[in-house]
Amino acid sequence: MDWMIFGVMASVAAVFFLWKVHSTKREAELFADQVEKALDDILSGREVDFPDVSEDTLWGKVSEKLGRTEKIWKQKEEQSKSEKEKMKELIGDISHQTKTPIANMKIYLELLEDEEVSPKARAFAAQIGRQTDKLEFLVQSMIKMSRLETGAIQIKKEKADIFDTITKAVAMVVPKAAKKDICMCLEEHSKLFVYHDRKWMEEAVFNVLDNAVKYTEENGRIEVFVKEQEFFIKILVKDSGKGIAEERQAQIFARFYREPEVHDQEGIGVGLYLTRKILELQGGYIEVHSEIGKGSEFCLYLPNER
Ligand code: ADP
Repeated sequence: MDWMIFGVMASVAAVFFLWKVHSTKREAELFADQVEKALDDILSGREVDFPDVSEDTLWGKVSEKLGRTEKIWKQKEEQSKSEKEKMKELIGDISHQTKTPIANMKIYLELLEDEEVSPKARAFAAQIGRQTDKLEFLVQSMIKMSRLETGAIQIKKEKADIFDTITKAVAMVVPKAAKKDICMCLEEHSKLFVYHDRKWMEEAVFNVLDNAVKYTEENGRIEVFVKEQEFFIKILVKDSGKGIAEERQAQIFARFYREPEVHDQEGIGVGLYLTRKILELQGGYIEVHSEIGKGSEFCLYLPNER
């Protein structure tokens, strides 16, 4: 009889144990589902249906913390949006307010040209003219940089012939290259349709080409190739110029960086920075291979999206 009672009790205990294990597993699965759904909703910006805060369950406690985290996250997002808006307004003001004084300085310099002045005064006026142009370029470049950084300028990618964009950039530097008797070669290519922002890509390629002309001696050579790779379209600009020392190659893409020996050349050190930024905003990148005295190769990569 005792054995029977013991057997029944053991069976009840075993059933209870199995039920407990089963229900704990179900609770854990339910909890994991709830957390996953809440995280999905937060990440996709949907309204999250959190339970009553007073609910004294594990899910109640976790969801209360998730709710607080979401609130802080949203506040920070709002704050960053409003800071960006303020920055855009400030840039707009700077752009607007500096236009008139610079334009006026140019007008007065033109008026001065018609006046009888000493050769010394004329030389000073020419200097002021050059500095005014530099100031105008500097202000415009700074505005462009901050607009790209704050997202005030939207990169608009469209399916277009990249070869056509490159040809336009090449055409802009041909006169300058001709003055230095630099041979400019653009490899023939059939149309290559790829998603890119035509205006900004033209500027990116132009910046690299303009440098190639600037930093290549007379009678030098500049070649441009377009290569289609599996994941990227590679635009290669190769020059026979002065080259860049290896230890400086990473720095040349930084804002306002100029090598010490090029200070007599025009420029403010933003061309490569802008080019890098323009490529990055399109999902691409830029690299350089160069050797002092032998020349440089700049490779611009655009995602091969067709
Ligand atoms: P900038 O030309 O106005 O100085 P960039 O940002 O375009 O500014 O270039 C940064 C620096 O990188 C230049 O000052 C120059 O020292 C170096 N550099 C760029 N392109 C070349 C090139 N093709 N050959 C040699 N040096 C170059």
